[in-house]
Amino acid sequence: MADAQTPFVPKGERRFDSTQTCGYQPSTAGEACGKPGAWHVMWDAELDNSITCNEHMELIQRRWMYIDRHPITSDCTMPGALWIFLNDRCEYPSETSAEKAVVREVPA
Ligand SMILES: [Zn+2]
Ligand SMILES: [Zn+2]
Repeated sequence: MADAQTPFVPKGERRFDSTQTCGYQPSTAGEACGKPGAWHVMWDAELDNSITCNEHMELIQRRWMYIDRHPITSDCTMPGALWIFLNDRCEYPSETSAEKAVVREVPA
């Protein structure tokens, strides 16, 4: 390993499309992984979040800190969807979810 071992994941460019493919990009590679996403990972309180495949979720668990994750759903990358910590998923805001759950808006 040439790079320093820090607990903070190196963040790539924020992606503006709503694809649900793995965004993991090794520093030596020119492109993101691109496999179908399996997990939605929240990195920090700034709500930076990523889609990742099963293989790279294992790497993330060994290597980096994150504050929450859940299996990906169709709402995950939709603009305006909220990260629902208690329900372990993203979903569109509704009166019930706003009352019952700890919610944070995920930046598009
Ligand atoms: Zn991947
Ligand atoms: Zn999600």
